[in-house]
Amino acid sequence: MMKERDQTGSYPDFMKVYQLLSQSLGEPDGLHESSPLAHCRSSLEILVATMLTQATSDRNALTAWHRFQEAYPRLEMVVEAGADALAEVIRPAGMAVQRSRAILAVLTKVKEDFGEYSLDSLADDPERAWQYLTALPGVGPKTAACTLLFGFNHPFFPVDVHIERIMKRMKWASPKMNPAEIQRMMGEMIPAQLMGGLHILLLNLGRTHCRPTRPDCAHCPLAGECPGV
Ligand code: SF4
Repeated sequence: MMKERDQTGSYPDFMKVYQLLSQSLGEPDGLHESSPLAHCRSSLEILVATMLTQATSDRNALTAWHRFQEAYPRLEMVVEAGADALAEVIRPAGMAVQRSRAILAVLTKVKEDFGEYSLDSLADDPERAWQYLTALPGVGPKTAACTLLFGFNHPFFPVDVHIERIMKRMKWASPKMNPAEIQRMMGEMIPAQLMGGLHILLLNLGRTHCRPTRPDCAHCPLAGECPGV
């Protein structure tokens, strides 16, 4: 697999990147509080919460997630209540009908496969967990990686549109790579203990500084490292 290296042949110094970002943006644990993923009780809840974050803001996803947890203290209640009720509960996240169908399909499949609303039997086998999650309806590589990273603490590095953009501007990834390819590559390059924190920090950098248009390079904590400046 291709790996992006700098001109010396070394990988980027991700510890230095982590330190620059956390000194400027704050510690990842604090930043993570704005995400529904910080407010989950199980790995299956992490999966469902991640499905709520797709193509919406953290604020809307968090509102929807709080409504979800209030309406459904146990996940079997989601299936019992049905698709229309779920769509109403998660309406603040947007695309409520599609999301509702997708979440119900996932919960139903998990119950069929494991006999319970739990992913715990995947906890000790990251490769099997990856294969299982990415085969679920409506679950792509980023959602699967979020579940593995934040639900099981397995070393996967989720790449969303913000992180993809930063990786390419930093020239850690080539312009033609898609998010799934970058995710696989970064999963081999980034030290496992930094993956969760670095994911959160880069996500926030993409929102605050490395925006899609008019990036704020003048105030970016990575400006000294970035060949795009
Ligand atoms: S210096 Fe500019 S292009 Fe580079 S990461 Fe920061 S905001 Fe993005």
